[in-house]
Amino acid sequence: DRVNLRVLTEDILDRLEKIAQDRNVTLKIKPDKLTEVWVKADAMRIEQVMINLIENAIKYNNDGGKVIIHFDEDKKSYAVSVRDNGPGIPPEHLTRIFERFYRVEKSRSKERGGTGLGLAIVKHILNGHGSTIAVKSQVEKGTTFTFKLEKTDEF
Ligand code: ATP
Ligand code: MG
Repeated sequence: DRVNLRVLTEDILDRLEKIAQDRNVTLKIKPDKLTEVWVKADAMRIEQVMINLIENAIKYNNDGGKVIIHFDEDKKSYAVSVRDNGPGIPPEHLTRIFERFYRVEKSRSKERGGTGLGLAIVKHILNGHGSTIAVKSQVEKGTTFTFKLEKTDEF
């Protein structure tokens, strides 16, 4: 299966726009010129990956925060990153956030709902696509999740 990640992401942003506005968070895709982001992937599963990452970036952000989804082209694949400028994740938690039911700071996370399954699902789906998920985070600066998917021809 093939999917245009750019179009899929624009669709998701339309649907999450209201939740983001309620939190005063801005959503943006970059760069403008990369409109054809065709990858080999199961559209429904990759949609789940993008929703989970973008929902987290909105939910665990500051008032007035930003979420930027960035596409990067290389020879054989596209790299996708979801970046926020929220509170970040302390290094001692970073290796564990992909475990099922793991949540940073139980009390604060409780207020924000959720079960702690989102990132475990993200990791599982990407592994099923022969890919992996990476995370970089700095406390009080923000968090970036990155993954790659293999390119496919447009036609
Ligand atoms: P669910 O996704 O099942 O609704 P959840 O969001 O708590 O619940 P995950 O998406 O797996 O679960 O995330 C695990 C934990 O990692 C979160 O509870 C949160 O503490 C932390 N986390 C995830 N994304 C971010 C982010 N962008 N910034 C800061 N912390 C994050
Ligand atoms: Mg989540």
